[in-house]
Amino acid sequence: MTEVGIRSPRPGSQAKLCFYYGPMNSGKSTLAIQTMYNFSCSERKGMLFSRFDRSGSGFATSRIGLRTSATDFEGLDFRQLVADREELDHLVIDEAQFLDEEQVEQLADVVDHNSVDVFAFGLASDFRSLLFSGSKRLLELADYSCAVQLRTLCWCGDIGLLSGRISGGRLLIDGPTVLVDTIEEAGGYQVLCRRHYRSGKGRPPHSPSGP
Ligand SMILES: [Zn+2]
Repeated sequence: MTEVGIRSPRPGSQAKLCFYYGPMNSGKSTLAIQTMYNFSCSERKGMLFSRFDRSGSGFATSRIGLRTSATDFEGLDFRQLVADREELDHLVIDEAQFLDEEQVEQLADVVDHNSVDVFAFGLASDFRSLLFSGSKRLLELADYSCAVQLRTLCWCGDIGLLSGRISGGRLLIDGPTVLVDTIEEAGGYQVLCRRHYRSGKGRPPHSPSGP
């Protein structure tokens, strides 16, 4: 493993790799954008990344209307990026479930060797209820991992835990892992409680869609 651009830690600080995970609509993109804002207010120099954002490449978008520019992390080498941009002291990654495992290793390196804080926000599991490979590696390596505390609800009112892919009112359990929804139309995904995920029952027609 190549070490690049080792730098001295900021005085009194130790960089951390943090992973915040939750189902759809749990506010992850909002938190990513807010994190960037808070750090910029403290004169910290960072970059925001996303992948398959619902409003297209080059943005991070929250369902409640926040939108800001972001760098697509497809194929990105984070070690090299940090070596090339020595001013960076933190990275914020939205849609972190789409990181590949090697990129998560790179992120651990820039934390440990370059004193760059990394805040990753993403789904834990896919519509099959299996961990995304990027999220799995983040859970394994992160200094700190935490479920996003903002609750999202299943159509029945119970706590939403899992993202189901729905077609014709039925839950699909196979198909391509990546199917990006949009602001305008929530694609084929619904947040479901474990009971309704496992029984395969999506939101009935004309039922309330929750918050
Ligand atoms: Zn339910």
